[in-house]
Amino acid sequence: MDQELSYGSDYKFIPATSIGSGIGIEVLPDLYSHTIQIVNICVVGNPATKNFVLVDAGMPESANEIISVTEERFGANSRPQAIILTHGHFDHVGAIIELVKHWDVPVYAHELELPFLTGKMSYPEPDPTVEGGLVAKMSPMFPNEPINLGSHIRTLPSDGSVPHLSGFRWIHTPGHSPGHVALFREEDRSLIAGDAFVTVKQDSLYKVLTQEMEVNGPPRYLTTDWQAAWDSVRKLAALQPNVAVTGHGMPLSGEMLANGLKKLVSEFDQVAIPDYGKYVNKNRH
Ligand SMILES: [Zn+2]
Ligand SMILES: [Zn+2]
Repeated sequence: MDQELSYGSDYKFIPATSIGSGIGIEVLPDLYSHTIQIVNICVVGNPATKNFVLVDAGMPESANEIISVTEERFGANSRPQAIILTHGHFDHVGAIIELVKHWDVPVYAHELELPFLTGKMSYPEPDPTVEGGLVAKMSPMFPNEPINLGSHIRTLPSDGSVPHLSGFRWIHTPGHSPGHVALFREEDRSLIAGDAFVTVKQDSLYKVLTQEMEVNGPPRYLTTDWQAAWDSVRKLAALQPNVAVTGHGMPLSGEMLANGLKKLVSEFDQVAIPDYGKYVNKNRH
């Protein structure tokens, strides 16, 4: 059965890092964010209950690190009940094949993301010509071919519930990718935003390295539908999240999050949408 599991043929280790790499933050007692090089994974669940879910699966070749993070928090040989993917970009599924083989757990994603996770369709090529810094310039080396999770991948339930995470619901936030989702818990207004918005300017190698905080739009080199991305940020801001863990950058809460989101919504066309790039058409609206 494991023969059906495979990465794309352009899968490879990406030499990029940040000062946050290897560091974990307990955002809430049951919400833990850990940085793998330049991307965050999120472990949801209270260590007292032993039940948890992993959100996103890090960079290529990070499976051992992810397993130790979860075992340190939940005990030796612990395993999640499921893995939920905000989307299928290489930096969010980098270790998923090894993790699925090791844990034998189901993976859930939005149905529009499934072609990229079942070997059917490649993501569009990253755009190295987009307005942005060195990360955009190095983006041609990023894998964009589909991985294949075979029978391990499942569609998120259409009623908005999130398997094994009662209290959370998934919200379709397309733009950065067609089937991108964020996870929101009404009770304490916790948001797992994926790459719908991030808290670091992901296109700047310097700002990625130093993790300088700023609420910004999705990473530019992989975003293909900017108007949808803007609508998705509007949708998330309207939820008035109290705390947010994003795919890149540090967790953010309170006033800083509220003000950052408000500013991002109103200035999205200036701060998030690049001035030029092959997926940019500023005059569509
Ligand atoms: Zn992404
Ligand atoms: Zn990402």
